[in-house]
Amino acid sequence: MRKKIVAGNWKMNKTFQEAEELISSVADRLDNEEINYEVVICPPALYLEMASDYAEESILQIAAQNVSGFENGAYTGEISASMLAEMEIAYCIVGHSERRKFFKETDDQLAEKVDRLLDYNVRPIFCVGEQLEEREVGSQFDVVRSQMVNGLFHLNKEEFSNIVVAYEPVWAIGTGIVATPDQAQEMHNFIRKLISEKYNPQIADATTILYGGSCNADNSTTLFSKKDVDGGLIGGASLKADEFVKIVMSVK
Ligand code: PEP
Repeated sequence: MRKKIVAGNWKMNKTFQEAEELISSVADRLDNEEINYEVVICPPALYLEMASDYAEESILQIAAQNVSGFENGAYTGEISASMLAEMEIAYCIVGHSERRKFFKETDDQLAEKVDRLLDYNVRPIFCVGEQLEEREVGSQFDVVRSQMVNGLFHLNKEEFSNIVVAYEPVWAIGTGIVATPDQAQEMHNFIRKLISEKYNPQIADATTILYGGSCNADNSTTLFSKKDVDGGLIGGASLKADEFVKIVMSVK
C-alpha cells in the first residue's frame, strides 16, 4: 500500500515565535491520535532546525521548501541538499509553481534539484500543475506530462521510488477555487498512468500523489476520498493549527 501524506507548506509566513507556537500546537493536538500516515511540516528554512527539534518528539516530519541544484560552494544564499540531510530533513518541495513563476526555475534546474536531494536521501515532493489558460484550452495533460518527463523521468526505477508527486493546478493555489474531486482524480489517475508506462504498474501503484490548491477542512474529506488522491499539500489552511489538524484527520 502506498503511503498517505498531509503536508503543510507555510511558505514565507510566521515570525519565529509564531512558527514555534504553531508547530507545537499541531504536534500536541496530534499526539493522542492514531495516525498511520505521514504528517509533514514545511517551514521557512530558518526555522528548520527548531521544527526538527519538535519533530523528534512527535509524529511530525519536516520538509524544506527549496534546495540548491548545486552540490556546495560559492553560491551565495543557497542551501544544499547535504545541509538538509545533516539536519535530518525528510522531504523537500521541488518545483512549486511560485518558484517556477517568481524565480524562473526551469525544468532542467528542477531535475538537478531532484538529483541533489536523492544523492542525500532527502525525498523530493515534486509539484506539477497547469495554469488556468492551459486548462481552458484543454492542454492540462500535455503540460503535466511535460513537467513529469522533464523533471523526473531521467530517474531510474530505484531513484523514482523515493519521489512524492504533488498535483497543484496553479489556478487553485491561494485562490479559494479548488479543483473538483473529479478533476483531481482525473489528473492523479493520468499521472499514475504516466508513471506506469515509464516504469511499471507496481511503482505507479506505490507512488504517493498529493493534491494541492485551496484544500481546506471543508473540502479535504471529499478530495481525499478519491482513489488516486493520497493526501494533500496544504498552503494557507496549514497556517492555523485547528484547521490543519482537521485536514490531517480527514485522511481515511
Ligand atoms: C500551495 O501553495 O502548495 C498550496 C496548495 O496553497 P493553498 O493551499 O493556499 O492554495
